[in-house]
Parts: sequence; C-alpha cells; structure tokens
Amino acid sequence: MPRSLVTGGAGFLGSHICEYLLKKGHEVICMDNLSTGAIANIEHLQCERFKFVKHDVTEYIYLAGPIDYVLHFASPASPVDYLQMPIQTLKVGALGTHKALGLAKEKNAAFLLASTSEIYGDPKEHPQREDYWGNVNPVGPRGVYDEAKRFAEALTMAYHRFHNVNTKIVRIFNTYGPRMRPHDGRAIPTFVPQALRHEPITVFGDGSQTRSFCYVDDLVDGIYRLLISSCHEPVNIGNPHEMTIKEMAETVVRATGSSSPIEYKPLPIDDPQIRQPDITRARQLLGWQPRVSLEDGLKQTIAWFRRQPEFAK
Ligand code: UDP
Repeated sequence: MPRSLVTGGAGFLGSHICEYLLKKGHEVICMDNLSTGAIANIEHLQCERFKFVKHDVTEYIYLAGPIDYVLHFASPASPVDYLQMPIQTLKVGALGTHKALGLAKEKNAAFLLASTSEIYGDPKEHPQREDYWGNVNPVGPRGVYDEAKRFAEALTMAYHRFHNVNTKIVRIFNTYGPRMRPHDGRAIPTFVPQALRHEPITVFGDGSQTRSFCYVDDLVDGIYRLLISSCHEPVNIGNPHEMTIKEMAETVVRATGSSSPIEYKPLPIDDPQIRQPDITRARQLLGWQPRVSLEDGLKQTIAWFRRQPEFAK
C-alpha cells in the first residue's frame, strides 16, 4: 500500500487530494497547521488509512517509516489570504518547500509541488504555455505568492537535478468546487453566497478580465496522472474554457435563480487581465483533459454551498 504525505491536506485542494489518494488505496498522512485549512474538510475521511498531523511545514518535518509520495500543497492560496499573511506565504513557499523536499529526499519518495498559474503574473503571452517565463511584479502585493511559488519551482528543479529526487511540478489554474471557503475572497466562493442571499455580486474592475475555471475533480485527476508519470517539467493543469469575470457573475446568478444585481468595485492591484492554460503538454504526456462542464461543476458547487449551515434552512 503506497504511503503518501499531503501538506496542506486540510485545505480546499489538499482535502480533495487526500480523498482521491484514499480511493486509490493509499495510506494518507494529512499535515496542516490549519491557518487556512479546516478539520471540517477532512472529517469525512477518518479511517484507519488516514492520519491528521497538525504541523507547520516551515519547521522540520519528522515522520517515522517509509513514505512513497510527498504532495506539497501547503500555502495560503487566495489573494485575500496572502495579503493578510504575506510573510507566512513566503515562508511556506520557501522554507516549507525546502522541508518537504528534504523529507522526499530522505525517504526516496516522489515529490509533487503544487505550483500556480500566478507564476505567469499578468501574462504577455496567451494562452500560457509552460515555456513562457511570465510577467511578475516582485514587489507588488501579489508578489509574495508569485515569487514564493517561483522560488519553490526553482528549488524543486534543483533537488531534481542535484539530488536526483523524482519531482513533478503542477501549475494549477483557477479551480473551484465544494469546500472553498465562503470568505476566502476568490470569485466563485464569493459570488455563490452573494447570489444565494440575493445580495449584489461584487465584480472587480469592469469585469472584462478573464479567467478559465476548472472543476476540482478534473484537477485532481490531472494531478494524480502527473504524480505517477515520469514528467519532471512543469505541467499546466486547468480548464482552457476562458470567460470574463462579468460572464461568470451572470452565470452564477442564472444558475442559482438569484435576483442579485452586479455591483462594480475597484480592481485589486496587479490583478491579471487574462488567463488561460495551454494544456497541450498535459494532453500529450498525461492523456488528460477536463471533462466536467461549467454547468455541472457549478451545480455541484452551489449544492454544497446550500448545504452549509449558514444557508441550510
Ligand atoms: N473577483 C471579482 N469579485 C470578487 C472576487 C474576485 O471580480 O468578489 C475577480 C478578481 O479581481 C479576478 C477574478 O475575479 O479578476 C478571479 O479572482 P480570484 O481571486 O478568484 O482568483 P485570481 O485573481 O487569483 O485568479
């Protein structure tokens, strides 16, 4: 039975990864300091093959016994979170990645880094291919996240080249689904609760900026394929279906049957204007492409929000 460590395992993506690995028969150690993760995300996973360890991965990670896979997902990941925790964000991307790589080397485990489309910054090439180096403002408010992840990628490649660690890097594009925190500030988990309450939908700027949203189940499938592959280069995983944020706000209003109007708010500093993954590499190397339509993914996500205590009647 493979034994896997998921750092950030109590977060949105981490908890879905833990769930998937359990389904694939792994023993899973979920490590999280619960700064943005929550026990509620992993309560349903309790079983003999699942163990939760509360630990901040910027500190030395000690685990007894063999480990086959290290999946490093620990990090604040929404703009609101990393603006509130800029130093922790830099630390977990740098020191945390170092500790997780050190553990993978020690245990001779495969290592997967959760990187991000943010490493492309406000891109000057469109769609973004993995060989595009990006357009990042290192000293802007988003720089703490973007540069931490860029450093994490560099460190991961160094461990691969210098220590021969079996590393993989996934560049995750905007993802949505159940277990996103309603107050994490990202578009979909903000819009859905606003729509359910018939409150104004807060669109930043004029809403013409674009994103491409991937349903979490598709993302996790792609990540698992990468994990068991022999590809050491970064791979974009995301849904190429690009839309404006205004279109997304209107789609959420329709899908919830809401009467919410749209309210325009100032655009955050350095908010990327466009974003769409080129997933040629994932298609060719992993045989992966997204399968869940926006309609179905939103249906699942809205249903989950409706079940949360603040909305359940
Ligand atoms: N956004 C918005 N209203 C919100 C939250 C986000 O218009 O209440 C916009 C945000 O400015 C960005 C897009 O939606 O252009 C996606 O934002 P998110 O925080 O979800 O992800 P990221 O900017 O990291 O892609």
